[in-house]
Amino acid sequence: PGLDPAALLEGLNPQQRAAVVHTGGPLLIVAGAGSGKTRVLTHRIAHLLATGQARPGEILAITFTNKAAAEMRERVGTLVGPAAGRMWVSTFHSACVRILRREHEVLGLRSSFSIYDAADSQRLMSLVCRQLDLDPKRYPPKTFSRKVSDLKNELVDPEEYARSVSESNPFDSALARAYALYNERLRQAHALDFDDLIMTTVNLLQAFPAVAEHYRRRFRHVLVDEYQDTNHAQYVLVRELAGVDRDQDGRADGDPGDLPPAELTVVGDADQSIYAFRGATIRNILEFEEDYPQATTILLEQNYRSTQNILSAANAVISQNPGRRAKNLWTESGDGPSIVGYVADSEHEEARFIAEEIDRLGDEHGVRPGDVAVFYRTNAQSRALEEVLVRTGIPYKVVGGTRFYERREIKDAVAYLRAVANPDDAVNLRRILNVPKRGLGDRAEAMLAAHAERERVSFGQAIADAAASGEERDTVPEVIGLTTRARNQVRAFHELLTELRDMETAGASPAEILDAALDRSGYLAELRASEDPQDATRVENLAELHAVAAEFAELDPEGGLGDFLERVALVADSDQIPDSDGVDQGQVTLMTVHTAKGLEFPVVFVTGMEDGTFPHQRSLTESDELSEERRLAYVALTRARERLYVSRAAVRTAWGMPQELPASRFLEDIPSELVDWRRAESSMETLRRGRGGSGGGGYGSGGFGSRSYGSGSYGSGSYRSGSYGGSGQDRDVRGGSGARSGPVRTGKLG
Ligand code: ATP
Ligand code: MG
Repeated sequence: PGLDPAALLEGLNPQQRAAVVHTGGPLLIVAGAGSGKTRVLTHRIAHLLATGQARPGEILAITFTNKAAAEMRERVGTLVGPAAGRMWVSTFHSACVRILRREHEVLGLRSSFSIYDAADSQRLMSLVCRQLDLDPKRYPPKTFSRKVSDLKNELVDPEEYARSVSESNPFDSALARAYALYNERLRQAHALDFDDLIMTTVNLLQAFPAVAEHYRRRFRHVLVDEYQDTNHAQYVLVRELAGVDRDQDGRADGDPGDLPPAELTVVGDADQSIYAFRGATIRNILEFEEDYPQATTILLEQNYRSTQNILSAANAVISQNPGRRAKNLWTESGDGPSIVGYVADSEHEEARFIAEEIDRLGDEHGVRPGDVAVFYRTNAQSRALEEVLVRTGIPYKVVGGTRFYERREIKDAVAYLRAVANPDDAVNLRRILNVPKRGLGDRAEAMLAAHAERERVSFGQAIADAAASGEERDTVPEVIGLTTRARNQVRAFHELLTELRDMETAGASPAEILDAALDRSGYLAELRASEDPQDATRVENLAELHAVAAEFAELDPEGGLGDFLERVALVADSDQIPDSDGVDQGQVTLMTVHTAKGLEFPVVFVTGMEDGTFPHQRSLTESDELSEERRLAYVALTRARERLYVSRAAVRTAWGMPQELPASRFLEDIPSELVDWRRAESSMETLRRGRGGSGGGGYGSGGFGSRSYGSGSYGSGSYRSGSYGGSGQDRDVRGGSGARSGPVRTGKLG
């Protein structure tokens, strides 16, 4: 209404126009990054509305993230005004929640059903396994959780799974029983887990034709962005909603009341499929034409986002993937500046280079912090970047992950240290009282708190009182209401704290106390034993915290636990200080490559380009996984519009230990004439070539009482066995190049 459809076609190229005005059968738009797929989807929606082909309520648009949904709603909103509000633009999950909340009755669900997140569903699975008397070593609940999730993404329900497994396979049949009981418990609790949202909606549409009919009448246009990342359940959901399953030939079959299928538009790029680990299959896009014989396919080949240099680099990297359809992306925007490469000695120096460069771009090219994004492969890598940005006062935000010091495991670990440093710190003591789980639940905590209140002592003293044994017991007031078991557990907890405090008194460093706390509490072991990939991330983050503590010891060898905690508090706190200079310059965005999908920034830094970091260690031996890492690299490089930086650290302290990592193979794929290496080799590498061989010196082995204070920590297990041989030398070089900046340095080189 009032909107000129022709105006919506202005500035689009012929293929884009064809996609916007297409009517009739299903439409597939496949194209490389930055070719305007999302823009076409947005304009298509606006065009449908402007030409009166659809009312807003008839449109269902699915995006991959809430952020992308908000952006699309906003973009359509600016094109068509407030009527845009009646469209459904959402992620798969939130669209399903909306449908299920409306249709709960036929499913026998309460409208207020709860949604279990990953942690909730894992807890439930543990209970179920216990009820079934399954040995957690042979049948780890977390593995079961993951398998159930995979089954749900494949739309396999418990009955079907039970039929498919052979009785003689104990693992599979245990899983079948656990899956059935798990689902039953969910139903009793009026709860759905995350995967259920999709699967239940599919079941609903398949089992209740009237309901399906309702949505098919309502949604005459179904549009899906990032189609390459849909999994099987989502794929079937789209088919059910569009009603295409009944009329594969794209025509109504003439039955009375029969409804022609909705118009289905999907857009995607097989080269950007990066969620195989969550069950996404590229197959959905590769075989779309087979599944929908009437489909029209439109290819977009002009890239509007990036300069030719950026595009050439990205194409060079992705072209190494086997079995892909070659694409011919081109741009009119010119070569642009060279890609800038940088080899740092360490992740700290890499971060410093980035901060300096952001400053310089601001001074010389008017680049605002909001124009800049810094990408990394895994969340743990943000820490070194955050520290430098805090120190240099560059405003930043971390997207799709919690800031380092707000992460649960970091808070837990710091809570241990605070409880050691301050025996009366009630908040932190209460935080860790039952972390990891030691049978001291809410009731025990309440009893201890009541005791503290009654006796007017601190919570810490209440713990000490409850821990008293033997004769000692007669001299302290009784903590009432604790079971014998709880009392024993409190005693063990108290002993742990006492041991850690003794370490501190004996002069142990914060890093050593941290290691001992995580080790002896069983915290690290629990995470290590877990099959949940999130827990692996937690271990990485804790290794990062260890690195912070080790660094602190180097900067301030005299510093004790209190000094360390003060420093942590300051860094953690300055995170909260808002940008106060009046003019909104925006913030630098820190994010993993996964969360960057679909976005674009004028300036992009892709960090940690090392074999073992990006591509990730796991992928080095698996060709499928390596292909996925390569697609991830393609996504990363193609986010940049004008300036692209690629950097690596010759030594990265991950997993608690410094390791030398070779250049990422993806870096080597980028034609050298495209890259301006600001620093092509780390000073360490230069030195090694000069001197030959590596120096001695135990970098990681720490001299302090390593026997009596248990050297377990991160060193004992699953982390990579990288070499960190040249350590003595490494240390020299870091000193020499000024890579270690203390708190007094601002991180700006003159
Ligand atoms: P990705 O694969 O990364 O999701 P995409 O194919 O969805 O990318 P868009 O984000 O839609 O690409 O577009 C990339 C950029 O190019 C955007 O800034 C968009 O506004 C711009 N763009 C797309 N088409 C045109 C056009 N015809 N004229 C001018 N700019 C365009
Ligand atoms: Mg897009």
